[in-house]
Amino acid sequence: MITLLVNENNPLSQTFYNELIEDLQIYKISCPQCKCIGHFGIHGYYTRTVTTGIASVSIRIQRIKCNSCSMTQALLTSQMVPYSQIALSTQVKIIEEIEKKTSYSSIEAKLSISIYCINYIISNYYKYWKQMKLIASLDFSNLSKLTQLSFANYSLQFMQIRNTANSLWVNTT
Ligand SMILES: [Zn+2]
Repeated sequence: MITLLVNENNPLSQTFYNELIEDLQIYKISCPQCKCIGHFGIHGYYTRTVTTGIASVSIRIQRIKCNSCSMTQALLTSQMVPYSQIALSTQVKIIEEIEKKTSYSSIEAKLSISIYCINYIISNYYKYWKQMKLIASLDFSNLSKLTQLSFANYSLQFMQIRNTANSLWVNTT
């Protein structure tokens, strides 16, 4: 998959996503698998649900296919965490609340996220990610920086658990 870096203040919506994809210079993107640049072609869609807890959206995600290695890649945004329906901003809020010793039931009420999901996120965080935050000594106030740091050190989106190749695309224009 390829993660498009966006400012965290952008809405998580199909309209925003579509505009992002329209502006994307696909010929500049390098393949996370074979590293070839500019060999991608459009290759269908799939729908994924992303939730902030308060609101859920279904987003039609663009897939692209590398003509060199034939691997298909999904184009996600840095608002999303691969394999999770819970938005990055919400996962970060949950971690912040837990670190402030807020109870699970208060977080559930505040963010509309089930205790089961809170538990899952927190255990992932302590198992895989807390160390990274310690090394970085980074606060959670700038999510796009957090994403960039995470990719720079681990080649993964922050809070991504599965080790599937993911590369960050930063639009420099
Ligand atoms: Zn490739």
